[in-house]
Amino acid sequence: MLIVQKYGGTSVGTIERIRAVARRSLATQRKGHRVVVIVSAMAGETNRLLGLAKQISERPDERELDVIASTGEQVSVALVALAIQAEGGKAVSLLGHQVRILTDSAFARARIQDIDARVIGSALDEGKIAVIAGFQGVDKEGNITTLGRGGSDTSGVAVAAALKADVCEIYTDVDGVYTADPNVVSTARKVSRISYEEMLELASLGAKVLQIRSVEFGMKYGVPIHVRSSFNDNEGTWVVPEDKAMEAVLVAGVTATKDEAKVTLEGIPDDPGVQVKVFRPLADAGIVVDVIVQAYTQNGRTNLTFTLPAGDLAKAKDLLAKECADLFAANQIKTEASLSKVSIVGVGMRSHAGVALKLFEILAKENIHVHLISTSEIKISCVIEAKYAELAVRALHDGFGLGNGKT
Ligand code: ADP
Ligand code: ASP
Ligand code: MG
Repeated sequence: MLIVQKYGGTSVGTIERIRAVARRSLATQRKGHRVVVIVSAMAGETNRLLGLAKQISERPDERELDVIASTGEQVSVALVALAIQAEGGKAVSLLGHQVRILTDSAFARARIQDIDARVIGSALDEGKIAVIAGFQGVDKEGNITTLGRGGSDTSGVAVAAALKADVCEIYTDVDGVYTADPNVVSTARKVSRISYEEMLELASLGAKVLQIRSVEFGMKYGVPIHVRSSFNDNEGTWVVPEDKAMEAVLVAGVTATKDEAKVTLEGIPDDPGVQVKVFRPLADAGIVVDVIVQAYTQNGRTNLTFTLPAGDLAKAKDLLAKECADLFAANQIKTEASLSKVSIVGVGMRSHAGVALKLFEILAKENIHVHLISTSEIKISCVIEAKYAELAVRALHDGFGLGNGKT
């Protein structure tokens, strides 16, 4: 088999942990498999590097930021290769540009466009373990790019797809994907299998155990993803296509995002195209809006509410006041920060009634005020005050019987 093993920051956080990675990858190779290892920077290192840049400039140039941030992986990839050699194995470290992980030029959030399998293939043919730096790529002009926080997951799954690997193992600091963040909800349970669709929703709604794009790659190219712990040999969680058994489960997981903010434009003209005028300046500024609600219209006036990352709130407010002065006055822009989006996710929702009602009952019992609601076929999200987010996650987790195996 061809096995891709991705190790996260904690899994390469110390020299001892790096030795353990070397031993595990060699043990896999000695069973007769071809092994590719993808590594993150040592725990805390990416934050440290970004912090250095922030000391020089509040808004550092993104190209230079990527040059700095990518060095964390350059260190760990060489240490892992050395550790494999020290254990008597053969290994070669490869950076993004050496493999040629080609990305677009969107610094700090680049997307992988193509991976050249040849250099990795030759290393494997020579009996080596190819140790590849996660998180980084190169654009067509030769600039170093990075894939966004948590991007080594995406490097792992994308390399697995390019090599047509049998599995992409994601080694991390928890035993797999849980019904909620096990560091927040003590009764969270590890799930043995989860569908790509559910994992995609969980990842985009706050569960950082996998970066969302890694799940997209897995789904698109049919790469089985096995999320497991680097601290033991336990079977983890398989992220795979949906099957019948999954539909019987109402809620597969509960998650929350932090740092959300809300903008309400009060009493704006309810004319066709008004939304274009509101959202164009935000889109041009690269601000990602999320839940959008427009309801209640009276006398040709309406309220338009949407959420966005709290970090973009001040900029959005300025832009709207400036660009939409003909539509509404600055005092019609109401904002609120310190919000969180709490979500339940499960393919079983498609075929069961009363899931939303139950969610509202649980939140009501905790006296939690719901600001906004958004749904898709397999998820329900509520925007609430951030200080209640953990309470809401625990209450929903227990209320839907996830902690004790009932669903
Ligand atoms: P790595 O450095 O290995 O990439 P991350 O910190 O990025 O690890 O992701 C693992 C973390 O994801 C866990 O420590 C856990 O706190 C968090 N997490 C959030 N939601 C979940 C979930 N549903 N299941 C498992 N882990 C989760
Ligand atoms: N080192 C990068 C980060 O901290 C990428 C990763 O760990 O996946 O975001
Ligand atoms: Mg991660």
